[in-house]
Amino acid sequence: SVAALDEPVPATHRTQDRRRPLGEAEHRDGFRNAPDADPAVAANRAWALDVLRRVPRSQLGARTIRRARVVDRSMLERIVARTAQAGVNWGRQDPHDRAELLDLIGHELETRRADLIEVMAAETGKTLTEADIEVTEAVDAAHHSAESARQLAAMDGDGARFVPPRLTVVVPPWNFPVAIPAGGVLAALAAGSGVVLKPAPEAKRSGALLADVLWDAGVPHSLLQLVDLDEDDLGRELVAHPAVDRVLLTGSADTARSFRWWRAGLPLTAETSGKNAIVVTPSADLDLAVQDIVQSAFGHAGQKCSAASLVVLVGSVGESERFRRQLVDATRTLRVAWPDDPAAQMGPLIAEPSGKLLAGLTELGPGESWLVQPAPLDDSGRLWSPGIRDGVRPGSDFHQTEYFGPVLGIMRAETLDEAIAIQNGTEFGLTAGIHSLDVDEVADWLASVQAGNLYVNRGTTGAVIGRQPFGGWKRSSVGTGTKAGGPMYVATLGRWERTERQV
Ligand code: GLU
Repeated sequence: SVAALDEPVPATHRTQDRRRPLGEAEHRDGFRNAPDADPAVAANRAWALDVLRRVPRSQLGARTIRRARVVDRSMLERIVARTAQAGVNWGRQDPHDRAELLDLIGHELETRRADLIEVMAAETGKTLTEADIEVTEAVDAAHHSAESARQLAAMDGDGARFVPPRLTVVVPPWNFPVAIPAGGVLAALAAGSGVVLKPAPEAKRSGALLADVLWDAGVPHSLLQLVDLDEDDLGRELVAHPAVDRVLLTGSADTARSFRWWRAGLPLTAETSGKNAIVVTPSADLDLAVQDIVQSAFGHAGQKCSAASLVVLVGSVGESERFRRQLVDATRTLRVAWPDDPAAQMGPLIAEPSGKLLAGLTELGPGESWLVQPAPLDDSGRLWSPGIRDGVRPGSDFHQTEYFGPVLGIMRAETLDEAIAIQNGTEFGLTAGIHSLDVDEVADWLASVQAGNLYVNRGTTGAVIGRQPFGGWKRSSVGTGTKAGGPMYVATLGRWERTERQV
């Protein structure tokens, strides 16, 4: 029942929210962001140690994923038919009932915070801090989707009728193995759709545990199906199936392109790759800039679409010895370790680097030099110290390529206009940052930078639901152009039909 929502969250999670005070929009929407686990609270530190002790032997989610195996076409066909039917029934329900379930899911996710962190750390190597933020995002996604369902009810009927998707297929990446699938699944449920969730191959157990939490909260098994596809062909069958009314993909631009090849007119919403830069002007608070650059470049070992892999230094910043030294020191002193080390600030890569990432970590382009040279730290091949290369030139490989790893390139520009041209000079447009304390500079930058998420005097990662709706521009996005975690996201997942206006 809804009364359960008034129960306090477990003491270990009760924290100060570093993001307070609340924004005005938040009050208006009746949605409040959940807090992360604050390490300043002693009980939280004890709780964190306890979670991390379990990581090396964790098997969470394993049983569920074994049960989700789909071995052939006829099995997939049955799952699709059943989920689409459940979706049709769910879509007929009052959106307020859907909202009530979504709020309960938010509560359940909060109570399972420790388990979700454990499985992410065990399976993908996320550090506790990064995994904790991710659970917060999933909790936010539940309550935000609940709010969106209520808004949908309010919008419905006045000249237009919302037709929910029967079935939504959610295809998340491994780098946010809980928050991104949660965002997609919960938005689809809010829209009144059945959902098939196909976790990333590298993060199946995290996806499975997420599904378990949702089922425990009361989502019927028929309405949310978890699938582990035995063969690639089955993925194609699923995406191309005519009963699928929406596909939510977060992955590479190439995957998005294949999906569209597989089915003409596919209703696809995709958030894809990025090559993101932070511009630093001479007016910036350089201490703050260093902190944000390091966090944006090396958080989760740079394995975020939103990560900053370039900084563009304007004018005198490019000559600043102090800035250079601080950036190098902050990078060198990052503690790189496996996530069961409570002091880990940067964890391992998802796999031993190969191909373009290996090249990005080991090969310099013309005119480039290592300010900090990355190196493998143990025999696994996955644990790399972060690197910074200087002298990256416009149009070079490093300027253009998304590496998805802990390597940052430094570029220089004479003027802000030149810096913006460099920032815009890639095929992607996901996130972009500026550090400047000059309001005119910031205004110029905001008017000309081509990216979905623009951040001023802040890092480029960690978009907060309801505050920084997330989504890209140019080759970083495919589909409707509405952003995840924003006000209209759920409303764009289905169709709108005109109705007779009541006079
Ligand atoms: N939403 C995440 C952030 O703002 C990035 C998601 C991604 O890497 O796909 O950092």
